[in-house]
Amino acid sequence: MRFSTKAIHVGSEPDATGAVNPPVYFTSTYSQKAQDAYAYARGDNPTRHALERNLAALEDAKHGLAFSSGMGAITTILTLLKKGDHVVLSDDVYGGVFRNFTRFMANYGIAFDFVDATKASNVAVAVKKTTRMIWMESPTNPLMKIVDLRATAKIAKENECVSVLDNTFASPYLQNPLAFGYDLVVHSATKYLAGHADVVSGALVTNDNELFEKMKYAENALGAVPGPMDCYLVLRGTKTLAVRMERHCDNAEALAGFLDENPAVERVLYPGLKEHPNHAIAAKQMRRFGGMLSFELRHPAKAKAFLRKLDVITLAESLGGVESLIEHPASMTHASLPKADREKRGIRDSLLRFSVGIEDVEDLKADLTSALRAA
Ligand code: PLP
Repeated sequence: MRFSTKAIHVGSEPDATGAVNPPVYFTSTYSQKAQDAYAYARGDNPTRHALERNLAALEDAKHGLAFSSGMGAITTILTLLKKGDHVVLSDDVYGGVFRNFTRFMANYGIAFDFVDATKASNVAVAVKKTTRMIWMESPTNPLMKIVDLRATAKIAKENECVSVLDNTFASPYLQNPLAFGYDLVVHSATKYLAGHADVVSGALVTNDNELFEKMKYAENALGAVPGPMDCYLVLRGTKTLAVRMERHCDNAEALAGFLDENPAVERVLYPGLKEHPNHAIAAKQMRRFGGMLSFELRHPAKAKAFLRKLDVITLAESLGGVESLIEHPASMTHASLPKADREKRGIRDSLLRFSVGIEDVEDLKADLTSALRAA
């Protein structure tokens, strides 16, 4: 089966009643009289199981696991580490991952280094004898850097490290990191997978049986499990992932060029632009270039006036929904990074992150044009 067919049907096969959608099983426990597959709902739930099969199918993976949030999935993966281990991370990881390492992992004796992973050789150089995990994001949040998936997965393999790729920005429709050799792929399913800004959820997929067993055990032990209604909402969302992603890509491609030509805009960061420094590698490993872009205004002091002027595009955190959202990383998603760290990483006060929605692109252009007059 091809992507759209799997997205619609895997996990939603009609049951004995013929229903074309899976029932939402609101239960915390299960009678053990006639079955022993289900015992307690922290361990498993049939609606969750339907979603997990769907998630695995989308990434062409053997195994899928659903979580209560992207951070729930991420924290569960970190149980693979123990005191004395070292992790190499791409320097532009999601702020919540940065916070998790600097505020918690550091207290548990886990060492880590953030590197500019757009050059795979930087990752290789950062690997030490104690390195057990390589943690990458591509495209990155919010600088839209691209990591060479095949090269970094190879470095992990050669050094017997678990490789983890946060695939939230691309979605499984545009990029499948397992095919490039990654061991674990994690998603904030809150974003493109669910797609309607109505649920917080996480996902993890793998082809490795042993890693899957460890992750399933850790999920139950830690408890970051999703509720059945949330699973249903994500499963409903993935049915339209292919059509939504095509439109996200159409709109983002059009707006990247449009913004690039506006004199109030200093620069646009979008991997689909030929002048993007990692355009060639993005073209190799992504089917299209996605719905996320970032840009800098020529006059940073005017950022607030610009954001206030927008009407169709909403000033809000998060991304990947049908509606366009824009945010100011320095004061919003990445405010937990100390200013010096933020600026060292290139997240300046003039930077805006734009999750391009699937509205009519002419309305988005009109909204941007009128707000840019204030910038
Ligand atoms: N990874 C990326 C790239 C994200 O953007 C986010 C959230 O914004 C997360 C992980 C965390 O996911 P969640 O908010 O679902 O916990």
